[in-house]
Amino acid sequence: MGKGVMLYCEIHEDCLAKIAAELASVGRKIADELGEELQAVLIGSGGVKAFAQELVFLGADKVLVIDDPAFASYQPDAYVEAMENVIKDISPAILLFGHNEAGRDLAPRLGFKFKAGVMLDCIKVEVEIATRKLYMTHPVYGSKVNTRFKAKTEGLLIASIRAKSNEPAESLETRSGEIIERSETVAVSIGQVQIIEQVKEEVAGVKLEEAGVIVSGGRGMQGPEGFEILKKLARVLGGEKGGAIGGSRAAIDNGWLPNKLQVGLTGKIVSPSIYIAVGISGAMQHIAGCLTSKTIIAINKDPEAPIFNISNYGVVGNWEDIVPALTEKCEALQ
Ligand SMILES: Cc1cc2nc3c(=O)[nH]c(=O)nc-3n(C[C@H](O)[C@H](O)[C@H](O)COP(=O)(O)OP(=O)(O)OC[C@H]3O[C@@H](n4cnc5c(N)ncnc54)[C@H](O)[C@@H]3O)c2cc1C
Repeated sequence: MGKGVMLYCEIHEDCLAKIAAELASVGRKIADELGEELQAVLIGSGGVKAFAQELVFLGADKVLVIDDPAFASYQPDAYVEAMENVIKDISPAILLFGHNEAGRDLAPRLGFKFKAGVMLDCIKVEVEIATRKLYMTHPVYGSKVNTRFKAKTEGLLIASIRAKSNEPAESLETRSGEIIERSETVAVSIGQVQIIEQVKEEVAGVKLEEAGVIVSGGRGMQGPEGFEILKKLARVLGGEKGGAIGGSRAAIDNGWLPNKLQVGLTGKIVSPSIYIAVGISGAMQHIAGCLTSKTIIAINKDPEAPIFNISNYGVVGNWEDIVPALTEKCEALQ
C-alpha cells in the first residue's frame, strides 16, 4: 500500500494552472489527516523549476520537477511514461489531478496501468482516517444529484477534481519544502500520437471557466445586440479581473455568441461566485452547467420559469428594464 498524497500540477501557457491551488488545499488536508507527505509533480520543457516554489508556498512538502524537451507539448505517451516512473518510485496512496484536458486524459490511463481506483470530475475528495478509505463526491443527472463513492481498492486511488469546486490553498511564503529535479528522458519516438499543430483558442477577456462573475443570456435576449448590455454588467461586477459573458444553447444556436461560450451539459461547466441568467428558462441541460455556482441570480419575465427554482435571487421582469438599472446601481456603489 502506498503512502502520501501526490498532485499532478499543470503548467498552462507559461503559468501554473489555477487548479493547482485547489488541488493543494484538498491534498494538504488529506495528507495532514493521514499524517503523511504532500508531493506535487510538475512536467514541462524549459523553466519548469520556476513554478516549484509556488507549489511549496501552497503547501507541498516536496515538488518533483521534470524538465525535458520531450515534454514541450502535451504528448500522452510521454507524460504517462514519466508519471508511471514517478508513481513506481514514490508509491503514493492518492493521486489528484485537475479535471481539465490533461487530467481527463492522464488519470484513466494511469488508473489502467496501476489497476487503481479512479473517479473523475469530483467536487469533493475526503478520507476516512480510521480505514484510510477515500470518499469521492461526483455530480450526476446533470448535477441534480451528488453521489458519494467509496473506493474499494487497497491500491492507488486516483481522482480528478472539478475546477472551482474547492477553496484554493493560501500561498504562504513562510512554508518550506524540498524541490527535487528528476531526469526523465522519455524518447519522443515512443509516442503513438503526434501533435501536428496547436491552435490557440482566442478568448477576449477572462476565460469562462475562470471567471468569478458570469452573466449569461438566452433566447429571451432576442438578438445579439443585448449581449453588449450584459457585457457591461459583467465588467462592472467582475471588478479588476473582469466578468465573463456566457449563453444558453439557444443563444449559441442563433449565432449570437460563439460556441465556446455555451454553458451547460454540452457546453462549459462553470462555478463562478455569481452567475446571472438573463432570459434563460432554466432547462435541465443549461442548469447542469451552472448549478455549482455560489450564487445564482435569474432575470426572467415569466414568474413560472424553472430557472427560479434553482436561483438564490430572482427578478421577474423584462431584462431591457432590469439589466441597465442593475448595472447603473452597481456602478454607483463602486
Ligand atoms: C442533448 C441536449 C443537450 C443540450 N445542451 C445544452 C447546453 O449545454 N446548454 C444549454 O443552455 N442548453 C442545452 N440544451 C438545450 C436546452 O434543452 C434548452 O433548449 C435551452 O437551454 C433553452 O435555452 P433558453 O433558456 O435560452 O431558451 P428558452 O427555453 O426559449 O427560454 C427563454 C426564456 O427567456 C425569457 N424571456 C423572453 N423574453 C424576455 C425578456 N424580455 N426579459 C426577460 N426574460 C425573457 C422567457 O420567459 C424564457 O424563460 C440541450 C438540449 C439537448 C437535447
